[in-house]
Amino acid sequence: MIILGAPGAGKGTQSDWLLNKWEIETIVVGQLLRNEIVKGSKLGQFAEKKMKAGELLADDIVLDLVQPEVEKLKDKDWILDGFPRKASQAVLLDKLLANDNESLNFVASLRVPDEVILKRIEERFIHLPSGRTYNLSFNPPKVAGKDDVTGEPLSQRPDDNATTFAARLKSFHEENDPLLAHYEGAVMKFEGKSSKEIWPKLEKAIEDRVIPQLEETVDL
Ligand code: ADP
Repeated sequence: MIILGAPGAGKGTQSDWLLNKWEIETIVVGQLLRNEIVKGSKLGQFAEKKMKAGELLADDIVLDLVQPEVEKLKDKDWILDGFPRKASQAVLLDKLLANDNESLNFVASLRVPDEVILKRIEERFIHLPSGRTYNLSFNPPKVAGKDDVTGEPLSQRPDDNATTFAARLKSFHEENDPLLAHYEGAVMKFEGKSSKEIWPKLEKAIEDRVIPQLEETVDL
């Protein structure tokens, strides 16, 4: 399945909750890019500049990163978070899946008002090596400023500052309608002001629509 939504809409949070409930893997494109930055690879250096500017990377660059991850999970169920972000990437994903004889079971679009997102971003902290994300109001770390698992320091994402975030949100609003149009008829929208409000709706939709499809596949 793929999970669409603005930066800060809670794609990562919903994915984590889905992972806790079902045997599912995630591919988190932003985290793959942050890993490249930590490694200091050529791609990482390039991605760092683009991310700091709040700009999207070119489609082929992101596809090169996503394709091997999707292929690694060929016989598993997965959630793709962060790809596609625009209609042209959706076309690339369609091709990739068709080549592998696969298709999407579910397209979820999270809808959260911009003002809620902006507040959330100010309070978002991340453990950069793992991608574990905390929110000071809803999901604070057990010890202030420290990752729950490793005890290492948390930081704010360099691209979560006001200027960069405004650019990311603007790009999201430009790309989102054509992206949703690509999935018209297949996309399910989930609205809410908090992740907790969205979760039961998403959970139920997956129980009703995805789980029966998986069981059918197993029966064959
Ligand atoms: P968010 O969903 O909060 O925007 P991500 O961690 O998914 O954050 O992405 C961070 C940045 O990584 C984006 O602002 C963009 O620069 C880059 N990026 C992530 N996914 C893509 C993509 N599919 N296409 C192009 N650039 C991407």
